[in-house]
Amino acid sequence: MTRIIDFHAHLDERWLHVKCDSPADVVRNLDRSEVEAACVFTIMGFYEDCVAHNEALLQRANEFPDRLIPFVTVDPKLGRAAVDELERRLANTRFRGVKFHPWLQAFASSMLRDTMMDILHVSAARNVPILLHDGTPPYSTTFQVAELARWSPNTTIVLGHAGSADYVDPAAQLIRDLPNLYGCYCGPRPGDLLHLVTLGGAEKVIFGSDFGAAGWRLLPERIDNVLEAGLEPDDLELVLHDNAERLLRLEEFPLTASLPTPAEARR
Ligand SMILES: [Zn+2]
Repeated sequence: MTRIIDFHAHLDERWLHVKCDSPADVVRNLDRSEVEAACVFTIMGFYEDCVAHNEALLQRANEFPDRLIPFVTVDPKLGRAAVDELERRLANTRFRGVKFHPWLQAFASSMLRDTMMDILHVSAARNVPILLHDGTPPYSTTFQVAELARWSPNTTIVLGHAGSADYVDPAAQLIRDLPNLYGCYCGPRPGDLLHLVTLGGAEKVIFGSDFGAAGWRLLPERIDNVLEAGLEPDDLELVLHDNAERLLRLEEFPLTASLPTPAEARR
């Protein structure tokens, strides 16, 4: 069995009225599916005060520093304050990426272009990927998200759902055509993975489950969809592990069972 990193999962206290799994429950289910580590995002931070939710997410993820990799989110509608919060969080190497959900967060990147450009440039300078929900109107179509990769060719942009259901074919073409655009296979139908890899390239597709938002059962189901997709063994390794390892710079900044010291945590 190949090594697995989950590039799209959620870790929060609740999703609206639904209670979510605790960090210990999450890690138990990572163990059950033999997943080494998961990138984890807030949910409630997309609806309300994301500064408080960034802190809460960090504390939760810090219960298992070698397994849970937090991504920061900010509200671009806040302008400079959003960029400041991003810089402050990314100065801590525990945060390995940035997550946006433009639909739930209710912003169109095209209407906040100055702030989004600052965010893209800060992320490029810190060498961290930005993953955005994609595949749904009004603000998160795959085309709208891919546009960010054109705005800032030095920023790594990840389509959070590789087109979801309706935009898989455009997603495959866009990740093929834009060197800094990747697709997280998290949501499309099982047969779509082979198409994404064939057209977009195996080095541009990353496995994610969305585990945590809708319960742990998504994880084994979505791993199974990848294992049974008919990929070549080398491509399977790229999708399930190696691409994520590269984007998260895990060789340069390995995950450790104890928290980094304050000096180590500063870049
Ligand atoms: Zn998600």
